Amino acid sequence: ESKRLRTGPVLHDPARHDDTSGQLRLVEELRLALVRDELVLHLQPQVDVGTGALHGVEALVRWQHPARGLLGPASFVPLAEAHGLIGPLTERVLELALAQLARWRADGVRLRVSVNLSASNLLDEALPERLLGRLLHHRVDPADLVLEVTENVFAGDSPQVRGVLTALAGLGAGLSIDDYGTGWSSLGYLRRLPVGELKLDRSFTADLRTDHRTAAIVGSTIDLAHRLGMRVVAEGVEDEPTLHELERLGCDLSQGYLHARPLPADELAGWVAARAA
Ligand code: C2E
Ligand code: CA
Ligand code: CA
Ligand code: CA
Repeated sequence: ESKRLRTGPVLHDPARHDDTSGQLRLVEELRLALVRDELVLHLQPQVDVGTGALHGVEALVRWQHPARGLLGPASFVPLAEAHGLIGPLTERVLELALAQLARWRADGVRLRVSVNLSASNLLDEALPERLLGRLLHHRVDPADLVLEVTENVFAGDSPQVRGVLTALAGLGAGLSIDDYGTGWSSLGYLRRLPVGELKLDRSFTADLRTDHRTAAIVGSTIDLAHRLGMRVVAEGVEDEPTLHELERLGCDLSQGYLHARPLPADELAGWVAARAA
């Protein structure tokens, strides 16, 4: 049965497990969603720890599914990765992010946008050139785009991945290491790659105030990052005491429910206005 699934699509097979046919249907719907423009970005503020100023946003993809409502990335990004759709998905997300940057620029607003890349995007040697085309089309400053990759993409030390990352950085976009500290944490790659930012994983942020070992790791990671000329973002910041601890340790930016949940662009504008008032 599973062999048949791999050799080609079987449309009506009642013997198949419900989950599998449901997932395959979702994959087909996702293929259509990409052309029907059903993906939307929610934007989560990244706030300067020292000044409280809004520095930028992380773009987090959602799928406005016609029947199921708004779906989070956990229910379709892994599916896209497994079924060859992560290339088009990422390009759609990049396109939406660049369009947002262009709108802000037209409004005189200067914010950065961080976009999440999947590991397999870094095997696509044509990505940097296509991204360059879209940057030029939207007349967006590449420095306003930050590309987040998780540290496990460095694990194999693949020349292909290194080449794509170097080319992306060569466009002028920033590179950020996401979920830092959870994976293959050899710092060797930081010496060779133009990485400008570390994002401390939420698990470190969560334990910061209650576990002195976590605080020691976070403090020395921030110091090391600064010595390497990198800035540090703490993700998952949910309360004031944690923010104060991050400030004490010299963390640059914070992101989390304390400031705001990921918001549609119009609600983000409302959030900015409410804070200014
Ligand atoms: P991530 O990159 O680590 O994104 C942070 C996740 O933590 C987001 O979940 C965000 O909503 C959530 N979060 C933010 N602040 C807090 C907080 O204070 N507390 C807690 N508990 N959670 C917080 P989301 O939006 O469901 O995204 C989940 C993951 O999906 C992301 O993790 C990222 O790995 C992936 N993802 C999202 N958008 C994209 C995309 O456009 N492309 C790809 N390839 N992956 C994406
Ligand atoms: Ca991220
Ligand atoms: Ca993260
Ligand atoms: Ca995470």
